[in-house]
Amino acid sequence: MNDIVQKQKRYFRTGATLSLSFRLAQLARLKETIQAHEQTIIDTLAKELNKSPFEAYTTEIGIVYEEIHFITKRLARWMKPKRVPTPLTHFGSKSYVYPEPYGVSLIIAPWNYPFQLAISPLIGAIAAGNCAVVKPSEYTPAMSALLKIIVAEAFSEEYVAVVEGGADVSQQLLDLRFDHIFFTGSVPVGKIVMAAAAKHLTPVTLELGGKSPAIVDQSAHLELAAKRIIWGKFLNAGQTCIAPDYVLVHEAMKQPLLEKMKRYMDELYGNPDAYGRIVSERHAERLVRFLNNGTVVYGGNYNIEQRWIEPTLLDDVTWDDAIMQEEIFGPLLPILTFQTIEEAIRTVQDHEKPLALYLFAEDKHIQQQVLTQVSFGGGCINDTIMHIANPHLPFGGVGQSGIGAYHGKASFDAFSHYKSVVKQTTKFDIPLRYPNFPNALKWV
Ligand code: NAD
Repeated sequence: MNDIVQKQKRYFRTGATLSLSFRLAQLARLKETIQAHEQTIIDTLAKELNKSPFEAYTTEIGIVYEEIHFITKRLARWMKPKRVPTPLTHFGSKSYVYPEPYGVSLIIAPWNYPFQLAISPLIGAIAAGNCAVVKPSEYTPAMSALLKIIVAEAFSEEYVAVVEGGADVSQQLLDLRFDHIFFTGSVPVGKIVMAAAAKHLTPVTLELGGKSPAIVDQSAHLELAAKRIIWGKFLNAGQTCIAPDYVLVHEAMKQPLLEKMKRYMDELYGNPDAYGRIVSERHAERLVRFLNNGTVVYGGNYNIEQRWIEPTLLDDVTWDDAIMQEEIFGPLLPILTFQTIEEAIRTVQDHEKPLALYLFAEDKHIQQQVLTQVSFGGGCINDTIMHIANPHLPFGGVGQSGIGAYHGKASFDAFSHYKSVVKQTTKFDIPLRYPNFPNALKWV
């Protein structure tokens, strides 16, 4: 591992990764290589997570092509040094901001979107002119092996390399000195990554998780609220970092919402054979233990050996229950109630700042109130998940749900340092700053 990192550092110093033409060529190369392996990627996602070809394409492959396309079109503009104003005290000089790559980046990826969450950050790293080491998750070993093949086919190891392995390998990598670390994963491991980065003062981007609420106000369009919450929650068997973790619904709307949700659970995810699988038996066992919390009002069946858990609604859950103490990250949806929107806001504020928040409300005042009073990474009004798929929107958390953001321009920024430079004139020298002032303007 150390060899790879040293090789990459040497390669980076040659300046080979810096030109626009090089970066564009590598992005195109990456896209071609992915296209050549598209069917294997789809098959691997089906094998390890039972993702349908449609879901695999829309949430893992298509989104990566879109990111390459979006960045390719704009990269020349982003790379240009930007001239900024200069105060009169600096008369004669000009000021610029130069984006520059950090150098060698470490990208650590999770298993839930094992292709997209390894490749999307890599696109940012390449666009910004970095070298990169990618460490995929050990929980999706077939995808990890495939990522190694794809990257090795597209790039030389001195430029981009995949290092496979679990937490032990990850920790060995973290002991090495990188110029930037991009981590996607859980909050506890995020803390380990940040502590390791602190030893070298390495800048980090942390894309973490947490408990993202879906708030359903009395003014909500209930039919669409039910449909969109069910779609976003149970996508990928609930293993989505920005899935609604729990519902906070106005108590007068709870029963009608539950009835509509049940209907959409059948309609959208009613076929067990076509439903996503939990990544491992151990993860499935953890989720099954949560079924003792509150009352199962819909679903509740499971088969641990097959890593299958039915989409499930839980009522009568309280914040003291185990299911409310950690991110659920599975197809279980607790329904909690509130009486006033102030109470709902307080409930969210009393807990860690979520990665996402979804508010279903037609009332504009309520929308404004939640947007101004609650801090969260990003989210939607009257929808779920969709904010992640707009490349014009930076994607990231706040507080315990993450540090920094990416996607589109934000990806370029995440992997860049902005270097500020004053270009001074030598035609004259204003003496005001020197100790022997008051000499007048002295022309050289
Ligand atoms: P995880 O934190 O267990 O693992 C993520 C990566 O860290 C893996 O590559 C793993 O090998 C490595 N790792 C695990 N333990 C480590 C340790 N002790 N030291 C160093 N590295 C270690 O996360 P996961 O289970 O793969 O993914 C689920 C979590 O990721 C959820 O919390 C979810 O919300 C979050 N997530 C966030 C985003 C986002 O974009 N913000 C996206 C997907 C998932």
